Amino acid sequence: MKILVCISSVPDTTAKINFTPDNKEFVAAGVTFILNPYDEVALSKAVDLAAQHNGTVTVINVGDATTEPVIRKALAIGANDAVRVNAVARDSFFVAKQISDYVSKNPFDLILCGRESSDHNGSSVPVMLAELLGMPCVLFAKSLTIDGTTATLDSEIEGGKEVLSVSLPFVAGGSEGMAEWKIPNMRGIMSARTKPLTVVEAVEVAQKTRLVSFDKPATRSAVKMIAVDDAGKLFEMIREEKKII
Ligand SMILES: Cc1cc2nc3c(=O)[nH]c(=O)nc-3n(C[C@H](O)[C@H](O)[C@H](O)COP(=O)(O)OP(=O)(O)OC[C@H]3O[C@@H](n4cnc5c(N)ncnc54)[C@H](O)[C@@H]3O)c2cc1C
Repeated sequence: MKILVCISSVPDTTAKINFTPDNKEFVAAGVTFILNPYDEVALSKAVDLAAQHNGTVTVINVGDATTEPVIRKALAIGANDAVRVNAVARDSFFVAKQISDYVSKNPFDLILCGRESSDHNGSSVPVMLAELLGMPCVLFAKSLTIDGTTATLDSEIEGGKEVLSVSLPFVAGGSEGMAEWKIPNMRGIMSARTKPLTVVEAVEVAQKTRLVSFDKPATRSAVKMIAVDDAGKLFEMIREEKKII
């Protein structure tokens, strides 16, 4: 079984996010980039499935050379090889089109993504990719088992889950609980340095969307402490400052 895992390189979730003064560009200087957490879950699942079904795991990233440390981490977790499409990921359609172009020339039995990237949170690449490849897509997959050419997935829905059956090949977006996270061990880290990482050039794709500007949420106001026995002060603040009552 040949499994492809799509991985994105995202700012560390604890990173301080800043934009240029005109709010048009994200300032990457000083920011640590990590493997998107949902992709890490999908990759962990892929490694387990490959072990169960005598398969292989390839990871693919659309990004420039700065994403290579994140790709090497995926190799350390257990992917067999990696592909980097050499382009800045300009929008979700651009990313989906690059991956679909690669897959149409190099078929896979299963394509796993994360349910969303933790930076732009679009949840759009997996569905666009599936559409471009003419494959089914299950976006919020919490579990996945494969028997022959049929897979069963638990998918999150509001307030519960649905159980779906789908034939291979298909695209799934991995969610929390899909697999136990795999921490790279020393052997994995050492072998990641020599595993194959192929760089392919991007295909021409017209950019469908263009960022105009970013807008950060308002900074939170400072916490005001009130003595535990001073309910009067609390009511006064709610009435005078917040004007709720
Ligand atoms: C310099 C720069 C300029 C940008 N300009 C624009 C712009 O003009 N318009 C715009 O809309 N966006 C822009 N972006 C955002 C960028 O397009 C998104 O980060 C990217 O497309 C992922 O989109 P998403 O949030 O929809 O991913 P999601 O759909 O939320 O990601 C879901 C899954 O898709 C896969 N995936 C996502 N990204 C990649 C990737 N790069 N490689 C492989 N797999 C991936 C992963 O499995 C991920 O878990 C820009 C980003 C950068 C760095």
